[in-house]
Amino acid sequence: MIQLASRVTQITPSLTLAITARAKEMKAEGMDVCGFASGEPDFDTPQHIKDAAESALDQGKTKYGAVAGESGLREAIARKLNNDNQLNYSADNVIVTNGGKHSLSNLMLALIESGDEVIIPAPYWLSYPEMVKLAGGTPIIVKTTAETDYKITPEQLRQAITPKTKLFVLNSPSNPTGTVYNRAEIEALAEVIIEHDLWVVSDEIYEKILYDGVEHISIGSLGEEIFKRTIISSGFAKSYSMTGWRIGYLAGPEPLIKAVSTIQSHSTSNVCTFAQYGAIAALESPESLPYLQKMRDAFSKRRQVILERIRAIPQLSCPTPMGAFYVFIDISKTGLNSREFCDQLLDKEQVAAIPGAAFDDDHCIRLSYATDLDSIEKGMDRIKKFIDQL
Ligand code: GLU
Repeated sequence: MIQLASRVTQITPSLTLAITARAKEMKAEGMDVCGFASGEPDFDTPQHIKDAAESALDQGKTKYGAVAGESGLREAIARKLNNDNQLNYSADNVIVTNGGKHSLSNLMLALIESGDEVIIPAPYWLSYPEMVKLAGGTPIIVKTTAETDYKITPEQLRQAITPKTKLFVLNSPSNPTGTVYNRAEIEALAEVIIEHDLWVVSDEIYEKILYDGVEHISIGSLGEEIFKRTIISSGFAKSYSMTGWRIGYLAGPEPLIKAVSTIQSHSTSNVCTFAQYGAIAALESPESLPYLQKMRDAFSKRRQVILERIRAIPQLSCPTPMGAFYVFIDISKTGLNSREFCDQLLDKEQVAAIPGAAFDDDHCIRLSYATDLDSIEKGMDRIKKFIDQL
C-alpha cells in the first residue's frame, strides 16, 4: 500500500469538478444531460481576447516570462484595481497566478502556518478549507443561514476570533449562495478585522456579475487601516468566460506578493506567457464593456426564469441571489439530504447539481444557471417531475 503524506489524507477531491466532469462524460456518451453543476459560463471567450493571445503567439511570446507575470498585465490589473475598486495598488502589489484557485492556495502557503486559524463563513466555496489544511492551518467554520441571506454578522465574526486567528475569508458575490454584502455590512466586518488586527482575503472573482443595480464594495477601499490588512484574489475565468485559460491574480502588500512570487518560482513559474496577452485585452479593450453588459443581461434573464421555476415548486425555497450565477436551494422539505437528492436526480432525470454538503449545508443544493435558457427550462421540468415522484 502507498504510504501517502498525511496532508493529502486530510482533504477530499473537489466535488464541483468531479460532478462537472461526470456530467460532461455522460453527455459525451450521448445522454441528454442538463448541467447545473458547473460554475463555468457557457459563452465562448470573446473574440478580441482570443485575437490578442493569438497575435502574442505569432509575435513569439512563447518563452519563460517573469514569475509574477508580464509587466503589461500586472500594470493593467493595478489600473483596474485603482479604477474599478478604489484600491491604491501598483504593479509591484500584483502577482499573476494560474487561476483564482491558485492565487488563494499560494496565499495560504505564504501566510498560514501550523496552529493558525482561518475563519470561513459557511456555506463556502469548497476549496477554501482544503487550502487552509494543505498549508497546515485550521479552518474555523462559521455557519450562516438563509435568514441572514447567508451573510456572517460582525457578532459572529467577533465570537469566532481567538488569539490564533490570522485570516478571515470574505467572498462577495458569493459562491455558492450568490449573496452580496452591502457597504454597511462590509464596514461592520472591517471594524472587527481592524480591532483584532487580522488579515482579510477578499475573493472578488464574481464582482462583475451583479443584479438589480447592487454595487460591489471592495473591503480594502473603506480606509487606510483596512487596506493595509487586505489581500484581493480574483481572476478572468468567470467575467470573461476564460475558465480554461487559467489566469488569476493576487494583490496585496508588496512583501506578501514577493513571498508568493518566491513560492511560485519553485512551483508553477509564470502563467502561460501568450495567454496573459489575452488577459490584457480583457481588461483594456473597449470591446470588453459591451461584452460584459451582454453577459450580465443574459445571466439576469436566466436568474429570473430559474427563480420563477423554483418558486413554483412548494418543496423548494431560496433567497434571491444578487450576484454570481448560482441559486442555493433549500430542499429539506423533500425529505432527502443533499447527496441523496443530487445522486437520485442525476440517475433518474439526468440533471447534474451540486449537493450543498460540499459547501457545508446538507439541506441545500446548488444550481448554476451559467447555461442556456432552454436547458434551464428543461432541467427545471425534470426537477419538478423528480420531486413530484418522490
Ligand atoms: N469555482 C467553480 C465552481 O464552484 C468551478 C469549479 C471549482 O473550481 O470548484 O463550480
